[in-house]
Formats: sequence, structure tokens, C-alpha cells
Amino acid sequence: MLPGKNGYFGEFGGKFIPETLFFALSELETIYYKVIKSKKFKNEFNYYLTHYVGRPTPLYYAGRLTEKLQGARIFLKREDLCHTGAHKINNTLGQILLAKEMGKKRIIAETGAGQHGVAVATAASLFDLKCEIYMGSEDIKRQRLNVFRMNLLGAKVISVETGTKTLKDAINEAIRDWVTNVETTHYLLGSTVGPHPYPMIVRDFQSVIGRETKKQAVKAIGRLPDYLVACVGGGSNSLGMFYPFYKEKVKFIGVEAAGESISSGRHAAPLCAGKVGILHGAKSYVLQDEDGQISSTHSVSAGLDYPGVGPEHSFYKKTKRAQYTAINDREALKAFCMLSQIEGIIPALESAHALAYVIKMAKKWGKNKNVVICLSGRGDKDMEEVAKIF
Ligand SMILES: *Cc1c(COP(=O)(O)O)cnc(C)c1O
Repeated sequence: MLPGKNGYFGEFGGKFIPETLFFALSELETIYYKVIKSKKFKNEFNYYLTHYVGRPTPLYYAGRLTEKLQGARIFLKREDLCHTGAHKINNTLGQILLAKEMGKKRIIAETGAGQHGVAVATAASLFDLKCEIYMGSEDIKRQRLNVFRMNLLGAKVISVETGTKTLKDAINEAIRDWVTNVETTHYLLGSTVGPHPYPMIVRDFQSVIGRETKKQAVKAIGRLPDYLVACVGGGSNSLGMFYPFYKEKVKFIGVEAAGESISSGRHAAPLCAGKVGILHGAKSYVLQDEDGQISSTHSVSAGLDYPGVGPEHSFYKKTKRAQYTAINDREALKAFCMLSQIEGIIPALESAHALAYVIKMAKKWGKNKNVVICLSGRGDKDMEEVAKIF
């Protein structure tokens, strides 16, 4: 089972971190291996997933969309129906329970558009933990509503003024805080990125998506699906969906954000157009210039707007376990409208990337194939952005 020793997925992953964090990461790893074997932890986590998040989420057969495209049968795994509107809460609750086990009283996290920040603030409020969220000052300006939400939930939002004043700078500041306050503080990472053991822990907490899908697909189709399709930002909703199918004969397709276009350079597609490097404590595909400086990224969907990607995805790419592709802003917006109009489901712009790829391919795959799309979140949060564009 992956990762192997020291947190490597093949050549990817690892722990490229300041020495002061070794202890914290080892502690996290030790506690994690202990609690995942404990019935009490499993029961508590499952209790909150069921009664608080609203799991299992449905696997919905998108009949009208299938009919229109005249191709593969399309199913949607409805993570958009989770409490707080996306899959992020699965991981957030798991890590809050871990923090409790470790006796940590303070939670810090980074956020880009604010979705992860809101999920963390929600879980911290539920367990009465002090919560501080690092957010770039540019993002704070763009996402006032989410800042208000986090404040309402009792979290403090700390404005980051360094670098491009966006997500990657917020992560750097959160790591700096963690180095200083590691005894009292848990750093709640939001995706399958960062140093070991984070990519493994986040994947495992999100794997509930794939485990449910497996059972639901067998019930709905009579067998496993042919394709699983998910958008890839840091990689957590996709790995949560893929991982339980790792040993099955099911094709994995990860969809990155091509932004304006891959050739324009204004995109967020490290697996399709990046190079191997080190970012935020792990070795993986990264968008960087010739000098190894991290490139600035662009995508209409804030959740995919990140220059790196989880190391496990780099491993899946290298070993060809998964195929990676990219969808641009325009295609994603078109898919966003299509699902809204045909199925009455407004998807998150992130999820619309996965959807757009299936819309492109459904006919070619043919009517006897079954595809499951991870509908990672709902589009309510994107209304302002989309209204601006139209
Ligand atoms: C954050 C987010 C993503 C991207 O993150 P992953 O870790 O790649 O899943 C995708 N969809 C939604 C709705 C998000 O909020």
C-alpha cells in the first residue's frame, strides 16, 4: 500500500521541511496509524460523516444529460450535497478529530478562495477549538463573503501580504506559524499535498467518496464503472474517488485547469504542463520557470488555481495508472451552464472541469460504457464570478 517508507509514492512525495517540523510530522504520523486502527475513532468519524456531513452522498444517474449526449451513461457522485457544499468537509472533520487525539487546542489552515477556510472554521466551531486562517490579501479582497463566513463561525482570518498575496503565500505563512507554535497547534492541510504524512491522511479521509461509489455503482449498474473522472487541484476529491479502485480495472481520468489555454501559459495544469520540482514540502509536478521559480497560475475556478499537485498524482501519471487532461475556462463555463439547465444541478466551477471532459468524450466512449464524475461541490459560491463573466 502506498506511500512506502518515508512517504514516497515512487520518486514523489517525501518530507522537504525545516528540521523543527520533523517532530510534529512524526507525531502526526504515529497518532494517525494508531487511531485508524481504533474502533472508537472510526465510529466517531463515521458518526459525524453521517449525521453532520450528510453521508452517504447519492450516486445520481444523470439521465437527461446522458440522453442529450447520446453516449456513455453518466453518473454523478454528489459531493455537492455535503454540509458546507463540497467534499472538503470530509477531510476537515477527520483532521479535527486527529487534532483532538493529539491534545492540540489551536487549528491553523491556509485558504485560497476561502472554501477550505470555511470548512475548517466549521469543524473547529463544532469542537470548540481556536481557529486561525491564513489568506492572501488579494484573495481577501476577492472573497469578502467567505471571510465574513469564517468570522461568523468564530475563526480569525489573518491577511498575508507577501509574494503574490494569494494561496501559495498563505501556505508559506501557515507553515511559518506552525514551526513556531507546533506544540499547541495542528496545521490542517486542505488537500493531498505537503510533506508526508499529509497526502496520505487527506487521501484516506476522502476515500469515503470512492468506497461509497463502489457499492452504489454495483447496485446501480450491476458492476464497476468503466471510467472515473474528477477535477484535480491539489488532488483530494480525485484521489478520494480513485484510491479505493486502485486495483480494479477502472480507468482514472484527472482533469486540470487549462485556464485561458495551456499555450498561453495562463493555466493551472502542473501534470499536463509542469516539471518535477519541490513545492510545500514534497516532490511532485510543479509549474515553474527556468530558474525554478514558482509560476503564477490562472483558472476561473479558485479551487484549481494552484501551481502544484499531490505527489500521488505524479506517481499515477508516471506509472500511467491515471490519464491527465485539461479543460479551459470557456469549456468549464459551458459545462456549468449545461448541467444547470439540463439536470437542475449547479456545479462548482471546479467540478465543471471534470464534467466538460465527459461532455467531450461521452459519445466516443459509447453507450455501453458507464462513467462516474465526482461532482466535488456546488456552484452557489461561484455565482458572483459567473455573473461577472456573463
Ligand atoms: C477545493 C476544491 C477542489 C480542488 O481541490 P482538490 O483537493 O483537488 O479536490 C475541487 N472542487 C471543489 C468544489 C473545491 O472546493
